[in-house]
Amino acid sequence: MAGRIDLSNVPASATGVIHVDLAELKRNWQAMRDLVHPVECASVVKADAYGLGANHVIPCLHQAGCQSFFVATPREAHQTRKLVPTSDIYVLDGLMPGTADALGQLNAVPVLSSAAEVEDWAKYAQQCGKPLKAALHIDTGLNRLGVSPGDVQSVQESGLLAHLDLHLVMSHLACADEPYHAQNENQLSAWNAAVSGLANTKTSLAASDGALLGPAFRLKMVRPGYAIYGGQASQGPTAPVKPVVSVHARVLQVRDVPPGGTVGYSATFQAMRPMRIATIAAGYADGVFRAASATNDVKGGSVAFEGELAPIVGRVSMDLITVDITDHTKPDAIVRGAWAELIGPNLPLETVGQGAGTIGYEVLTNLSRRFHRVYLNDTTPEPAS
Ligand SMILES: *Cc1c(COP(=O)(O)O)cnc(C)c1O
Repeated sequence: MAGRIDLSNVPASATGVIHVDLAELKRNWQAMRDLVHPVECASVVKADAYGLGANHVIPCLHQAGCQSFFVATPREAHQTRKLVPTSDIYVLDGLMPGTADALGQLNAVPVLSSAAEVEDWAKYAQQCGKPLKAALHIDTGLNRLGVSPGDVQSVQESGLLAHLDLHLVMSHLACADEPYHAQNENQLSAWNAAVSGLANTKTSLAASDGALLGPAFRLKMVRPGYAIYGGQASQGPTAPVKPVVSVHARVLQVRDVPPGGTVGYSATFQAMRPMRIATIAAGYADGVFRAASATNDVKGGSVAFEGELAPIVGRVSMDLITVDITDHTKPDAIVRGAWAELIGPNLPLETVGQGAGTIGYEVLTNLSRRFHRVYLNDTTPEPAS
């Protein structure tokens, strides 16, 4: 995020605040677009744009120049269509039974993952009396969704694709965050073999990390999500993006704990010396994972004050965490009502994820729903709800 976050205007009643910098988001998408040029750069905006707020994120990305949006569910497609009336909306969960008409009405593109889904969508297209846009997902080794490579030919030979306007053929990488993992090349080979008969269609294999694996993986379109939200998941190359999100929560109380005193539920942490503890208004209901709890022996997550980390001690509870500020060099700054940084320059998404034994993606998609939200540099009109 550009510059220092101004916390002076946050309403007094807010226990926490999430800042989303839409100018940085826009720059991130454009940086990914420029990186892969002339390959098309789509945006993955599933799960409420990774927790950042689809109603703000989608118009911003559209304004940046994005024309293709990926969501997971029909409901997300519905919300997205209201925000981008003419862009392509791909639905990654594909065609669930009974959803063809709803997706058809939205002019959404289901990412079809099986012969059965192809058949359902082709039948619906025949009812509509026109070819419908479709995407085909081919599994190349993730074994999650997609037509198995061995079944691609029979789907082609079924004649059903004649009723469809096959807009995109795609697959998804299992190990793109590990650039030297053999699975990447294996999936690329499986892909090349599977699509040899589908030559003229738009193709896509890479999400954020796949786009960093190099031109061979970019095909005709890349589908980044995490990178445009400022994430750096790859263990190899760095994405040309900057943080978009910061989160702060209030200090509610500062207290001294004598040696022998325990902190938090189940008394899992015991002070071995005189300690100073700050209690902060953020808990697992705010996306601070309970797995970020710490005992005397096992470290957990941290917050930061004035650029200095303060480790969580004891259990994370629903609304509160307790952090150790005993050795903080500026204790006077940590008072009732002060702000603790939970995500920000001192605590990147990846660090926060590691502190809870998880990944930044899960951190983002669990951002608090009861913290105050500020969208910085919003240049798009408020959506009609
Ligand atoms: C979520 C998802 C993406 C985006 O992945 P990122 O790692 O966030 O860039 C792309 N493609 C598929 C199929 C996905 O499920």
